[in-house]
Amino acid sequence: MIITKKREHNDLMENIKNCNSLFLLGCSECATLCGTGGEPELRAMKEMLEAEGKRVTGTFVSKTGCQVLGTKVELKQFKDALAETDCILVMSCGAGTQTAVELFQDKPVYPANDSLFLGNMTRIQMFDERCSLCGKCILDKTGGICPVTACPKGLLNGPCGGTNNGKCEVSADIECAWVRIYNRLKRLDQLEDMKRIAEPKDWSAHKKPMSLNAREKKEEVEK
Ligand code: SF4
Ligand code: SF4
Repeated sequence: MIITKKREHNDLMENIKNCNSLFLLGCSECATLCGTGGEPELRAMKEMLEAEGKRVTGTFVSKTGCQVLGTKVELKQFKDALAETDCILVMSCGAGTQTAVELFQDKPVYPANDSLFLGNMTRIQMFDERCSLCGKCILDKTGGICPVTACPKGLLNGPCGGTNNGKCEVSADIECAWVRIYNRLKRLDQLEDMKRIAEPKDWSAHKKPMSLNAREKKEEVEK
């Protein structure tokens, strides 16, 4: 899931200083789990904006904010509220914000959140980054632990000389990724994998902007 956090209040208010009226758009998926774009957060945002003298023409938590067509259909019921708003304030991730940019060509769209990383939720509203979307996964070679993400240096043939009692030299709060990988491979009786020298990573597998037509892939498989 995409991990988001609320923008600083002053930054948000500066963004929307020229908007007298706003429509609030949340997302029932990642942003709801992050506590940045579900029903309670939209209610709180509406109250705050109204206290600041703004008018909120409508609020809606879309099912999946990054789903452009689905969001477009869902928003049809808010035609009037959307027509009379000065701008759209999107309480999801940057992808959800850009759904609104695509749907509202003639209105300013502002993000209420900052998007941080792709994360796993380990407990309620606690998140860890475990994958950097590198485009060519090497988890099969590292005991299922990602050194690209878990090692601050992204070392593929670690550990570096700074590892200290299982901790990372960058921060004692971080377990050394390569000690974790070693311990995991040992548990699995796969320590031979530690001896493999990883080739330099092909970063071209993650060229921006990326796109994927999964339908084409499916059609290829069916041929
Ligand atoms: S190797 Fe790449 S795709 Fe696999 S978990 Fe790490 S960053 Fe993600
Ligand atoms: S101590 Fe471990 S996690 Fe930290 S930078 Fe070195 S290899 Fe990476």
